[in-house]
Amino acid sequence: KNMTGAEIRQAFIDFFTEHGHTVVPSSSLVPGGDQTLLFTNAGMVQFKDVFLGTDHRPYTRAVDSQKCMRVAGKHNDLDDVGRDDTHHTFFEMLGNWSFGDYYKKEAITWAWQLLTDVFGLDKSKLWTTYFQDDKGDLPTDEEAAENWCKQPGIDPTHVLPFGRKENFWEMAETGPCGPCSEIHIDRGPEFCNKQGVPGHVCRVNGDCSRYLELWNLVFIQYNRLSVTQFEPLPATHVDTGMGLERIVSVMQGVSSNYRTDLLLPLMETVRTLAGQTEAERDANITPYRVVADHSRAATFLIADGVVPGNTGRNYVCRMIIRRAARFGTKLGLTGPFLAKVADVVVENYGAAYPELRRNRATILTNLTREEQRFQRTVDAGMSHLNDLLAEMTASGQTVLDGHKAFDLYATLGLPLELTRDVAREQGMDVDEEGFRRAMDEHRLASSAGKVFGSMGGEDVDVYRTALEELIGGGKLSKKGVQYDPY
Ligand code: ATP
Ligand code: MG
Ligand code: MG
Ligand code: MG
Repeated sequence: KNMTGAEIRQAFIDFFTEHGHTVVPSSSLVPGGDQTLLFTNAGMVQFKDVFLGTDHRPYTRAVDSQKCMRVAGKHNDLDDVGRDDTHHTFFEMLGNWSFGDYYKKEAITWAWQLLTDVFGLDKSKLWTTYFQDDKGDLPTDEEAAENWCKQPGIDPTHVLPFGRKENFWEMAETGPCGPCSEIHIDRGPEFCNKQGVPGHVCRVNGDCSRYLELWNLVFIQYNRLSVTQFEPLPATHVDTGMGLERIVSVMQGVSSNYRTDLLLPLMETVRTLAGQTEAERDANITPYRVVADHSRAATFLIADGVVPGNTGRNYVCRMIIRRAARFGTKLGLTGPFLAKVADVVVENYGAAYPELRRNRATILTNLTREEQRFQRTVDAGMSHLNDLLAEMTASGQTVLDGHKAFDLYATLGLPLELTRDVAREQGMDVDEEGFRRAMDEHRLASSAGKVFGSMGGEDVDVYRTALEELIGGGKLSKKGVQYDPY
C-alpha cells in the first residue's frame, strides 16, 4: 500500500479509535514531574501514575503518537545513531493503551489485524515473541503464546520465547513494568549486515539487521521496587509501542528509516546544501544520518523548551547540535546550516506537532546561535593549538602532550579529532592515551556530579557520553567495542 508517513500515523490512530480508544496528544519530551528521567523515552512515561493507580483518566483506552528521546539512562541509543538505519535519538512511538480494561487477547488480536489486514504485511515474514521465565522468579507468559498461535495465518513456528533481557519491559530501574510480546519482521537475507562473518546466524533478537523489531506489546502488571522486588499492581494494563519510522520504512518498501518520507527530505536538504550527488551521499552516509537525525531531535527539543546550555537537558541539546555541526563539516558544510534543515522539519511535522510552528523562530535562531558559538570555540581553540604546534616545531618535539590536548578540549572545547587532524597536517602526533588519562582524572576530580547533581542517577551517564561524543574518536563504548572515529 502506498501511504505517506503522516497517513500511516493517522491510520494507526484511526484503527484504535474505531476500537473505542480516546486520542491523547503526545506529552512533552520533558517528563512532567519525573525528576528521575531526563527525557520521555517511551509512550508509557505520561501514563506512569495511571498504572501505579495514583492518577485517573476519564478513559480506559487511549491511542497516541509519542515524541521520544533515547540519549540517556536505561534506554540510550546514541551509540547506534548514524551507524544503523533504525535507531534515532528522537523518534515517534505509536501506542495503544488499556488502563485496567482489555488485556492480552485483544492487544494481540488487534496488533495482528492492523499489521496484516489494514497494513497488508506478509504474514509469513512476521515473527512474534513472548516472555519465558529465565530467572526463576516471574511466570512464563503462556497466555501471550497461546493468543499468538490463534491468530489467523500465523506460522506457529514463528512464535518464540525469550527471557528477561528481551521480553520484560521497564521504563527505568524501578516503576511499572511487565512481560512483553514483540513483533519482528524478516526483511530477508540481503538485509543481514554480517553476511560472510564466520559462524553468524541471522535470528530474531540476534546481532544482525535482517530481523527488524517493529512493535512491543507490554503487559503492565508489576511495580518494580528494587532489583529483586516486584509488587503486583492493583490492576493490569496494556502499553504498546511501535516505532513510526520503522513501520513506515516497511510500508514504503525502503531499506532504511532515512529513505522514508519522514527523513529523506532532511537528507536531501543536506545533500543540496553540500552540493553532492546521490552516489556521494551514499558513500558518506554516516554524516548524513547524524545531521538528519540530530537536527530533527534538536528541533523537537527546542520546541519543548529545551534550548542549548551547560547542564542537564540543555547540555544534551547543545551536544546534539554541536555533533550535527561537526558531522556537517565532514560534508564541507562550514557556515551555520542547521536552521535550513530544521525548517524542513517544521514544515513536514508542523501539522502533527503544532508546537513546531509556534516556536519556529526560536528553533531557528537557537540553532544558528549555537553553531556560531561552536565555531568561535573551535576558532579560539585552533589559534591556541597553532601556537602550541609552533613551539613544538621550534624545540623539535613531534608528539603533542595529552594533558595539553585535553586542556584545549576542557577549556576551549576543541575536539580531540580536530586537534589530531591539525597536528597530523603538520607532521605531528597527539598522545591520545595521555588525553584519555587526563579526561579520566578530570572526571573524577570534578564536574559530573555538579553538572547533573540535581537530576538523578542517569545524568552522569549523559555527561560521559556527551563528553566523549563531543571529543569524538577513540571512544570505548559500553559494549567494549572500539568506536570508529567516523
Ligand atoms: P531495539 O531492540 O531495536 O533497540 P527496543 O527493544 O529498545 O528496540 P522498545 O523499548 O521495545 O525498543 O520500544 C518500542 C518500539 O520503539 C520498538 O519496537 C521500535 O519499533 C521503536 N524504537 C525503539 N528504539 C528506537 C530508536 N532509538 N529509534 C527509532 N525507533 C525505536
Ligand atoms: Mg533499544
Ligand atoms: Mg529490542
Ligand atoms: Mg523492544
